[in-house]
Amino acid sequence: MDRRSLLKRFEIKTILDQFIEKKVRVKNSQKRENIIFTLCILAYLGLMGSLTIPNVSNAGKGIIAQFEVLLSIYMALSFSKKGFWAGVLLNTANILLIVLTIFLAENSGAVTGIVVNVFTILSIWIVSILMSRNEKHISEVIQQKEQLLHLNKEILESEQELKRQNNELQVSYQIIKNGEEKLNYLAFYDTLTKLPNRKMIMDRLELLVNLSRHNALSFFVVFIDLDDFKKINDSLGHSMGDALIVAVASRLRKLVHENDILGRLGGDEFALIIQQDLKDEDVLQYVETLRRSLEQKFRIETHDLAINASFGISKYPRDGIDPNELIRSADTAMYRAKETGKNGVYFFQRDILNEILTRIDFENHMKKAIENDEFFLVYQPQYNLDGGTLRGFETLIRWQSTAYGLVTPLKFIPVAEDTRLIIPLGKWILLTACKRIVELMEKYQLPDIVLSVNISAIQIEDPDFIFMLKSVLELSGLPPRNLELEITESVMIKSLERTRQILNDLKTMGVMIALDDFGTGYSSLRYLQLLPIDTLKIDKSFIDNISENERNKQVIGAIISLVHQMGIIVVAEGVENDVQLNYLREEKCDGIQGFLLGKPLSSRELVDFLENKLNTQFDEAILTRKLSII
Ligand code: C2E
Ligand code: CA
Ligand code: CA
Repeated sequence: MDRRSLLKRFEIKTILDQFIEKKVRVKNSQKRENIIFTLCILAYLGLMGSLTIPNVSNAGKGIIAQFEVLLSIYMALSFSKKGFWAGVLLNTANILLIVLTIFLAENSGAVTGIVVNVFTILSIWIVSILMSRNEKHISEVIQQKEQLLHLNKEILESEQELKRQNNELQVSYQIIKNGEEKLNYLAFYDTLTKLPNRKMIMDRLELLVNLSRHNALSFFVVFIDLDDFKKINDSLGHSMGDALIVAVASRLRKLVHENDILGRLGGDEFALIIQQDLKDEDVLQYVETLRRSLEQKFRIETHDLAINASFGISKYPRDGIDPNELIRSADTAMYRAKETGKNGVYFFQRDILNEILTRIDFENHMKKAIENDEFFLVYQPQYNLDGGTLRGFETLIRWQSTAYGLVTPLKFIPVAEDTRLIIPLGKWILLTACKRIVELMEKYQLPDIVLSVNISAIQIEDPDFIFMLKSVLELSGLPPRNLELEITESVMIKSLERTRQILNDLKTMGVMIALDDFGTGYSSLRYLQLLPIDTLKIDKSFIDNISENERNKQVIGAIISLVHQMGIIVVAEGVENDVQLNYLREEKCDGIQGFLLGKPLSSRELVDFLENKLNTQFDEAILTRKLSII
């Protein structure tokens, strides 16, 4: 039954309702009832009394008895249980009175009175039973009605609650409606640069793909990634980083064609959709303008910031037929730009993808190699030319990969540098080598031995480098003077001032510094003057030429004497034959390292090597023996 008809039903006052109401009213007027009840009893007693008056005729007594019957029934009807019991008591009293009259006045005619009274009692008993049934029924009806009333009240209340909620909904709907524009903005625009965000770019690409599919048109996606943005964020803080992103966005936006869409994908990544069917050359020219525009410094607060970007371009449908594929291809091309020295523009090519996938696979294997214990160190002996004593060892890393076999450091160190894996790997190298050398120093009494460890530029630039080095020295117990760090010129090229500061810190710690690969890079002797270098390592490529090239010989001789004047010692590496050895000895080179005297040794081979004390000192006899082995 629905609410409306239920309510309607309540509105119709039935006879039953009226009766119930009446009953309720009667119930409520207790006081009046008591008075009437008392009056009835008094009336009955009065009637009883009048029966005892001797000169009342039998007809009169009959009438009185009738009144008594009526009164008894009235009481039973009107006062339920109370009335019934009053009727029973009064009639019983009447019977007793009649019995007494029979005995005292020997009036046997009064026996009919007893019969009347007994019948009266029976009648009121029946009346009372019927009444109580009726009452029970009525009270059930009252209860039901009360329940219905309660229900009705609840319905009314929930109706009000619904109204209230409806009002609230309307208010929030209004709020949502008011903020709809704002929400729309947040969903599709980047709050920092106010450029379209990734979602909008992807939606737009979806639309373009659908349109172009039918019209056989092309368009281009350009993926833009700032070079070394992390450095700016790390060194100058995120708010400067954000300000730079905004400045870059606004500079690029000014150059973007009005039909094209420039968006920010997140972080320092932007995307440009070129919605024109251009030739590749024209696209390249267009993107080049964007790239070059960034080459001018950005003035942010008091800083002049230089930032470049790498650009990758993909073309629909050539390089992808859906938004994801197009973005991925442009990203791959951008990655190529990063790999080839950054600040460049590249078009996507299928073979780049394969190359990059291989590279990613390689990187992933390398990341797991530390945990899997696939790296190990080897130690190549270095000798002092004067006296032929053992100078120390250069530690060199090896990777025994489950996937690629034995990998040369020339192949994986550059990748470790790119991915910054060199930071944890470099720490592992230092700690492992230092611990091993300390064991050997103690076991074989080698207090002056030098442990040379190669350090990448990335490691030196790491702000935690000095802290890491100190903790390695502390953990291993290696005295700093026994450690020589081999660095290359690439460290200095980035920032000479900063390098000088770090190298000075290292010197203060007591660690030695060697300049590695001398003769391959700029080979600037200026660095030797400016920086606290202890050792110069002449590269193998220089030594290789000794036997053939007379001029080269002279250059090496000149370098050695010049470097000696600066108080720096010289170690030649890659010495493979006695011609080289003899020449270096003549030119008073201090140290020597090469296959001629010893190949890199595994950690276990080191023990055999040191056990055989003969090997720690070389003389002509050993040399001849070695030469016959090689
Ligand atoms: P490097 O520092 O110039 O190391 C010397 C390289 O020349 C080593 O190659 C060594 O085995 C090799 N070598 C030494 N004597 C001779 C010789 O007489 N003949 C020939 N043919 N080669 C000789 P390796 O171990 O393959 O290392 C190559 C480069 O990898 C190293 O050049 C160094 O730049 C890098 N590297 C190796 N280990 C580490 C390391 O632990 N950390 C870092 N950052 N780089 C490392
Ligand atoms: Ca080296
Ligand atoms: Ca070297």
